[in-house]
Amino acid sequence: MSFYSQMLPSYTVGDDAYKNVPAICEPYGTKAVVIGGKRAIEAAKDYLLAALKDSKIEIIDFIWYGGEASFENGDVLIANPKVQEADMVFAVGGGKAIDCCKYVTYVAKKPLFSFPTIAGTCAPVSSVAVIYYPTGVIRDTWQRADGMPPIHVFINTTVIAEAPEVYLWTGMADTMAKHFETTLASRGKALTHGDAFGVAMGVQCYKPLVQYGAKALEDCRNNTPSFEVEQICLCILVTTGMVSNFIDFSINSSIAHSLFYGMTVLPQIEEKHLHGEVVSYGVLVLLMYDGQMDKLEELYDFYKTVKLPTKLADIEVTYDELGPAIETTLTVRDIKNAPYEVTAEKLYQAITDLEEYNRKRG
Ligand SMILES: [Zn+2]
Repeated sequence: MSFYSQMLPSYTVGDDAYKNVPAICEPYGTKAVVIGGKRAIEAAKDYLLAALKDSKIEIIDFIWYGGEASFENGDVLIANPKVQEADMVFAVGGGKAIDCCKYVTYVAKKPLFSFPTIAGTCAPVSSVAVIYYPTGVIRDTWQRADGMPPIHVFINTTVIAEAPEVYLWTGMADTMAKHFETTLASRGKALTHGDAFGVAMGVQCYKPLVQYGAKALEDCRNNTPSFEVEQICLCILVTTGMVSNFIDFSINSSIAHSLFYGMTVLPQIEEKHLHGEVVSYGVLVLLMYDGQMDKLEELYDFYKTVKLPTKLADIEVTYDELGPAIETTLTVRDIKNAPYEVTAEKLYQAITDLEEYNRKRG
C-alpha cells in the first residue's frame, strides 16, 4: 500500500451538548433521521428536539434499530423510506444501536453522528462495529472499508447522568484494561506511529478513573452531570475510542480480556456478571502475573472504593471451578499478544497469589 489514512472523530461534551448540533450538522443538510434503542430515544428525544427548535434541521423520524446490531436489522433500516430520504443519521443509544448505524450509513452513504446515552463502551467514537446474528449470538467485528468513525459525537452528560450508574461502573471497569493490556501487549515490539500514539494515550484510560471515578459514580446515582461525570465520560468514550482507532488489533488486549472470555464458560459469569466487571478482575490477575505490584496496590484500593471485584468470591467463582476457564483462556487469540508465553501453571499461580494478597490486605 502506498498510503494509509487515519480517521478520527470529533466530539462535543457537556450538560447541554446537543445545543451544538445545528452548528456541526447543518452543513450536511436539513433532514435527520434518528435511529436508536427504545430507551435511548426516550432519554434523548426531548433534549434533542429542544436543541433543534430554531435550527434548519428537522428530525423526520425516530426509528427503533431492531434490538440487535445485525446486518439483517441494518438492511431493514437501509430499505426504510425515511432513512433513504434523510440527509444524515443520528445514532442514539448504547453500543449496539450505534454499531448497527455504522453499517447502515456505510451502505446507504449517509453521514453518521453519534449520541451516546450511556458511557458503557467506546462504540460511539470508534470505527469498528461488533455485529451479532439476529438470535443475539455474536457474529464478528466489522470495520467500514473507509475506516470512518462517526463524524461527530455529542456527549450530553445530563442524559448520561440520568441513566443507571451501573453502565458507568462497568464502562469504567472495561476502560481500565485498555492501558494495562496495551502496555503489556506492546512491550518489546517495534511500534508504528499509530501504535505508539495509542499506547501513550492509554495512560489516560486509567489515571482519571482512579482520580474521579468514585465521585462520578456517586453523582451519576444522583443524576448530577458534574465535572467528574464529564471526565469519566471522556475517559470511557473518547480516550478508549481514540486508542482503539490508533492501535493495531494485535496489541489491543491480552490477559485480562482472555481471562474474561475463559470465565464465560462458567454459567454464573454469563448470567450474573458484566463484561467490564470480570475484565477488571482480569486486570488484577494481569498485574500479579506480570509482577507489577505498585500498580496492583494502587488499583486494589480504588477497586475497594468503587466495589469492583478483587478476588474470585467477588465474581462467585471457586478455585475448584477454574480448570475449564483457564483452559479456554489459553485458547483465546488475545493471550498470544503477551510478550511471553502465558501458561496454565503461572495463571493458576497469579490467581492464587491474588487470593493471598486479598487476605493480607483485607
Ligand atoms: Zn472489554
